[in-house]
Amino acid sequence: MVNSGKSDTFRRVAGEYSKSSLAKIRYPGPMPPEPGETLDMIVLGAGLRGLGAALAHTAAAPRKTLLVIDPLPQPGGSLRTQRTNGYLCELGPFALDAEQLAAATHHLPQAPTPIDALPGADHGYVFDGSSLQRVPLERAPRSFRTGLEELPQACRRALGPALRLGRAAIAITVANGEFPVELGGEVPTALTARQLLLALPLRTSARLLAGLDPHLGPLAERLRSEPRAFVFFGGDRRQLPTLGGYGIVPADGADTALTEVVHCSEVFANRALPGRCLLRLELTLSNGAERDEAVIQLALDELQRFTGARPEFGLHKVHRFERDLDDAVAAECRTRLRALHGRVPGLTIVGDARGDTL
Ligand SMILES: Cc1cc2nc3c(=O)[nH]c(=O)nc-3n(C[C@H](O)[C@H](O)[C@H](O)COP(=O)(O)OP(=O)(O)OC[C@H]3O[C@@H](n4cnc5c(N)ncnc54)[C@H](O)[C@@H]3O)c2cc1C
Repeated sequence: MVNSGKSDTFRRVAGEYSKSSLAKIRYPGPMPPEPGETLDMIVLGAGLRGLGAALAHTAAAPRKTLLVIDPLPQPGGSLRTQRTNGYLCELGPFALDAEQLAAATHHLPQAPTPIDALPGADHGYVFDGSSLQRVPLERAPRSFRTGLEELPQACRRALGPALRLGRAAIAITVANGEFPVELGGEVPTALTARQLLLALPLRTSARLLAGLDPHLGPLAERLRSEPRAFVFFGGDRRQLPTLGGYGIVPADGADTALTEVVHCSEVFANRALPGRCLLRLELTLSNGAERDEAVIQLALDELQRFTGARPEFGLHKVHRFERDLDDAVAAECRTRLRALHGRVPGLTIVGDARGDTL
């Protein structure tokens, strides 16, 4: 998925789209501005929250100019689906609940059709250090037939050339009630908007808004994250520990590096080929420098401790990422960002940087 690069071909003239019928058919969403034009809104971050906010803005004010900026080559942020040898691996959130789904699809002109979980996924297990306790699931998980990635792809179609990928915001200022935003890249670009919406990771929001609150810069540098990994195990379904259900979490305070097991192929159809199973284990790593073999070994050892089983899997896949720590520094950062959100007219901050839950 790469940016279509068609933004220059479709222009807005006197409130109407030029080449109107073609533009309207292909890109029913907002149109990008003329060069040098002050935009009505810039959204920074094309994760689920930024995409949702951009679509909501477009639905409320379809004739206003809007750009969504993100350094990644595809929209979706931490949400990413990857296919490997017939297995469908979610590299971010595994599922959304009905409320999250409704918020994300509400303003989509052509939302993908969600799928429900399989009947056996209405419960999970808590590992208390010696045995597994069966617990009902609080909220029913939902996804899409070919994975959660269907959602950002649908947002991409709806936003068309208003989505500008491969560019990061590197500086924000406020001048005369407007927001000049500097974009990095081979050809640095300056854009200006009357409204600015940040849907960014906490650290990025704090760094970019440091000019508006001198405490934010030092706080951003003190934010901490810990290295984590997903280990995907795939193989013969008969190898799967016979528990079924959504998955397993350790009890609070349990001494283990394994923070979650999801029985992916038992929760949604099409996560593995017929007769095969897929598990996703999330691990806290001690320093992130461990070799993949050591991470896989740790995952197998902990799975055996949780379930008593030591299956042989054909697929071993490690995906590393960082989880931000939700500590006192993060809380202070969020408080300061919330204050800016209320104090600076035209500035909106959503997502992790405001402490929203998705
Ligand atoms: C591995 C993983 C697993 C997760 N699992 C769950 C789960 O099970 N359940 C759940 O509810 N949530 C989960 N989350 C969190 C969830 O992914 C997010 O809360 C959700 O997708 C909404 O994301 P967002 O849009 O707020 O932020 P993100 O998805 O983080 O998007 C932020 C965007 O900002 C962009 N960005 C960064 N810097 C700049 C810049 N300078 N300029 C412009 N754009 C920039 C990034 O590229 C990214 O696309 C998980 C996150 C991760 C990483």
